[in-house]
Amino acid sequence: MTITISKDTQFEAVIGLEVHVELSTATKLFCGCANDFGSDPNTNVCPVCMALPGSLPVLNERVVEFALRIGEALDFDVPTQSVFHRKNYFYPDMPKNFQTSQYDQPICMDGKLEIQTSEGTKVIRIERAHMEEDTGKSTHVGSSGRLHGADYSLVDYNRAGVPLMEIVSRPDISSSQEARAYVSELRAVLKSIDVSDVKMEEGSMRVDANVSVRPVGQEQLGIRAEIKNMNSLRSLGRAVDFEIARQIALVKSGEPVIQETRHWDENAGKTSSMRSKEEANDYRYFPEPDLVPVVPTDDMREMVHSSMPELPAQKRTRLVDDWNISDSDARTLVSNPELYEFVQVAVSIGGTDIAKDATSFAIIEVAGELNEKGLAIDVAPITSENLAQVCTLVANAELSRNQAKTLLGYLVDRGGVVSSLVQELGLKQVSDTGALEAIVDEVLAQYSDDVAQWADADEGKRKKLQGFFMGKCMAQSKGQGNPQIFNSLIESKLGN
Ligand code: ADP
Ligand code: MG
Ligand code: ZN
Repeated sequence: MTITISKDTQFEAVIGLEVHVELSTATKLFCGCANDFGSDPNTNVCPVCMALPGSLPVLNERVVEFALRIGEALDFDVPTQSVFHRKNYFYPDMPKNFQTSQYDQPICMDGKLEIQTSEGTKVIRIERAHMEEDTGKSTHVGSSGRLHGADYSLVDYNRAGVPLMEIVSRPDISSSQEARAYVSELRAVLKSIDVSDVKMEEGSMRVDANVSVRPVGQEQLGIRAEIKNMNSLRSLGRAVDFEIARQIALVKSGEPVIQETRHWDENAGKTSSMRSKEEANDYRYFPEPDLVPVVPTDDMREMVHSSMPELPAQKRTRLVDDWNISDSDARTLVSNPELYEFVQVAVSIGGTDIAKDATSFAIIEVAGELNEKGLAIDVAPITSENLAQVCTLVANAELSRNQAKTLLGYLVDRGGVVSSLVQELGLKQVSDTGALEAIVDEVLAQYSDDVAQWADADEGKRKKLQGFFMGKCMAQSKGQGNPQIFNSLIESKLGN
């Protein structure tokens, strides 16, 4: 079906993501060199990863194990065997002049990942995931910072041969929000199974976005551009939005989208052409003659299967069900393991009854404050035990929510013993009805003019009056009166 483009034509975006993750194994993919970020340049190298003649690769078993874990976590099929190929191209930071990668027989096929979108849950299909080696790293010295215009370049081969998994989605993603949700969920999953530290800023997780547009209703995919160099979720979102708008404008003005690789410039906020596919390399893939096919044993599969931890989606569901917290709070906890641990210990002390309060106090009062101070929760003065005690006081109506917030503020700042702080700060909530009733009577007597207006007041006016009396009562009790009890006393005394 052909669709005629007019100025009113609606377009939709089609996005497929290629994600490279560096695996956090102790050693490289085919040699015993340390896989270590930040060592002195060219200290983690040997004849194998430097591709000296006569050296032979030996596959790191841990990499296969990590790949199988990824296979389990993302619901992939792991075929009986997979094969390494040589992908031939020249690049100064790649000592072999080919990259050992996988091609038509990757270790993982047909996986999927569920993401949350504004319209609910969406399944993004994943085409494949394969093992390959990373390249070294060039630094171009000179004002441009890029190869062109550099005075000279330095090469560090520490990264050459570091194991990567490339995870390739199907073009099931329809917006920048979905692209971000996919990467963020993928990151959470990979982190939870402990295969990578998934730091986009440090390059241990790198995302390329393939973007095309088509008129709504057209089945055939549009021509795509591939965008590189986004090193945060935010720049991924911005780059995808920019590219969608650029392509729609092109198509509307009757110009073709060119299939090419584009570079995202964070400062300029745009993508620009790096190279077109016509000039792209012919990689001359062929099976790696120095390596046998990879055939994971049943024992290995079983070991991986039985040692899978709880995945982020399962954990969120469990927290929503058992702790009775919102999906968005569960999301915050699951994406923040230290904060989760902090709350989890509090809940194990105080019981699941305090879980909801513990979660929301931890997110807003504790983490919020600590963020402002730039402090990590595991070194903050406040302890999980403190949080549990504060929540228990709230649950027993011995402390109002506002008092709890004040108390938590102190604990976050300098720590301390909850019971002594309650005394010191005069924070004990008074729930003794007799004592509170005396205060209410006093306030109503003092403001008898306002009380007189009650009988003829409409609903809005009554709300205002009630708030006013409440404020006076709270002030009179130095903030210690139980607000619920005050409220019901005021209501019953004023009558209808
Ligand atoms: P290549 O080998 O050139 O990288 P692939 O066919 O393997 O190409 O596709 C790479 C990525 O591009 C995949 O994530 C895929 O979903 C996505 N993709 C393919 N065609 C399109 C398209 N027309 N629009 C958007 N994404 C696409
Ligand atoms: Mg590609
Ligand atoms: Zn080596």
